[in-house]
Amino acid sequence: MRDAPVRVPFLDLQVSQRPLAQELDVLWHRITESSAFIGGAEVDGFEEAWALVCQTSHAVGVANGTDAIELALTALGIGPGDEVVVPANTFVATAGAVCATGAVPVFADVDEATLLLTPATLEAALTPRTAAVVVVHLYGQAADVPALDRVARRAGIAVVEDCAQAHGARWDGRPVGALGDVGCFSFYPGKNLGAFGDAGAVVTSDGHLASRVRQLADHGRSSASRHLHDVVGRNSRLDALQAGVLTTKLAHLEGWNASRRAAHSAYADQLPSAPGVGQVRQHPSSLSSHHLEVVRVPRRDDVLRDLGRGGVGAGVHYPVPCHLLEGYARFRREALPVSERAAEEVLSLPMFPGITADQVRDVCDVLTSCL
Ligand SMILES: *Cc1c(COP(=O)(O)O)cnc(C)c1O
Repeated sequence: MRDAPVRVPFLDLQVSQRPLAQELDVLWHRITESSAFIGGAEVDGFEEAWALVCQTSHAVGVANGTDAIELALTALGIGPGDEVVVPANTFVATAGAVCATGAVPVFADVDEATLLLTPATLEAALTPRTAAVVVVHLYGQAADVPALDRVARRAGIAVVEDCAQAHGARWDGRPVGALGDVGCFSFYPGKNLGAFGDAGAVVTSDGHLASRVRQLADHGRSSASRHLHDVVGRNSRLDALQAGVLTTKLAHLEGWNASRRAAHSAYADQLPSAPGVGQVRQHPSSLSSHHLEVVRVPRRDDVLRDLGRGGVGAGVHYPVPCHLLEGYARFRREALPVSERAAEEVLSLPMFPGITADQVRDVCDVLTSCL
């Protein structure tokens, strides 16, 4: 049996992008006229605006979210010989960025209810070589950084936030990215704030750290002269077109997140009537960006297939926890039962700004019939 025509796609970027067409045309002309393609006013403007949103003193535009994490860790002085704790339940890039610094990722389990890193699972992963933890605000839900930070302070390690799925999310009213030592964002097109290609940013209120990231991302160039290179850097710059697209879209981020929140509420109201569906708990202190609408179901792969046959797009984030991925086998230390069980059950339902109440009802009806 083949899939029915898609009635509710997993992600529809057109709904939110179409109204911006004219503004983006103007942007395109402005950039081609200025011939400032890398750096320049568009990038400066976006960095300022993004730091304001994050309530940090600095934002540094970089090429993508993975680079943001790698550069933040390197700027913190982390590299070969160090260990960095990473939740097993995350997108592989979190761990890949750690490896790119030369440090070793140590995978920690997650909370059964929220599927996020906890103080206890962080504590269990610490060794004398631990230099940092990368806290991931997965699915858009803010992790409890203040509690994780207390464990980190005691252990003398840095707290890096992976905010790639959490643009605009908050913990007790404070934006993610400003909760730890440094925050890392991806603006991959499918994220809550997405560019028209790859883009990322590092945010922090530590001016020295921000300068280090900026220098590393620009060939290690000295602030004193463009021909002096004090450290070995690399090229990870944000280009003007992406920065301009991000500034244009930024004006709509709050509204888009509100639309996602409304869709999440509709799902939360209707899903309990679908037999056997488990919901991911939302912590009361977390204001989620609802990047993904994740539920847990038995026989997940069958349900995924049946949803497709019913005309509903769905996904899995993520089917294999990081510590069980082939490329990361050499870092495996122990079983992480909560992450392993979650990977078999998680299912991501359609979620995007502009998804209608009718579409959510349709998804819930088809899901109920699949179960
Ligand atoms: C998307 C994502 C990244 C990587 O961002 P890129 O811009 O694709 O490099 C890192 N961590 C998480 C949790 C992500 O979802």
